[in-house]
Amino acid sequence: MLTQNVVPGVHQIEHAHVNCYLIEDDDGLTLVDAGLPGVWNELGRAIRAVGRRPDDLKALVLTHAHFDHVGVARRLVQRQGLPVYAHPDERTLAAHPYRYAHERPAAAYPLQHPRALPILGSMVMAGAVAVRGVETTEELSAETIVPVPGRPRVIPSPGHTFGHCALHLPDRDVVLTGDALVTLDPYTGQTGPRLVARAATADSQAAMQSLDALAGTQAGTVLTGHGQPWRAGIEDAVEAARQHGAA
Ligand SMILES: [Zn+2]
Ligand SMILES: [Zn+2]
Repeated sequence: MLTQNVVPGVHQIEHAHVNCYLIEDDDGLTLVDAGLPGVWNELGRAIRAVGRRPDDLKALVLTHAHFDHVGVARRLVQRQGLPVYAHPDERTLAAHPYRYAHERPAAAYPLQHPRALPILGSMVMAGAVAVRGVETTEELSAETIVPVPGRPRVIPSPGHTFGHCALHLPDRDVVLTGDALVTLDPYTGQTGPRLVARAATADSQAAMQSLDALAGTQAGTVLTGHGQPWRAGIEDAVEAARQHGAA
């Protein structure tokens, strides 16, 4: 599902409970995260719906390289040679999107959290078990401005993965948190601002600490890797995530 202009010039594409975003400016479009393979057609439709063409897509920026964030990355690179930006600590994961570190085994979660079953089921239907890796070509580094449409600022936020980065667009008062803070945890089905369950988190203590960096943006709107936009400000979202702790 496409939601145009969640904030001006930032469009949300939600497919199988996974979000990716198109950031638009005069130079073209940046795709933030690459969903699951099943998002492909929807991405094409979204680009046309916002009045652009596939060649207007200039770059892919990965908040992190879990399989549900690199789904169409390889296909995009093969089709139009997009540069792929990620933190250097995500490079290996991008090439091998299932070799991720996590604190607790994932298998037990659906039994404890039956609300997660339809979510995980739709992710599987969207190709979650057959994502191919991608070579990253450009590095995200701390506090720099990425030279792509929208000119996001890099906010390192390790914990969910070791090289996770959020993206801040100060001129649009929005932060894209990736999975450093979500409003839907696919592993438990719980909604509201929170960390992702330990089933898919490398270091939840580090993830907790990274919330400070997110709060530091003071952004009014929060766009997450999973779940609905949060419009009550990043500071409230961070406070709620701290209260919940890590599932
Ligand atoms: Zn993730
Ligand atoms: Zn995710």
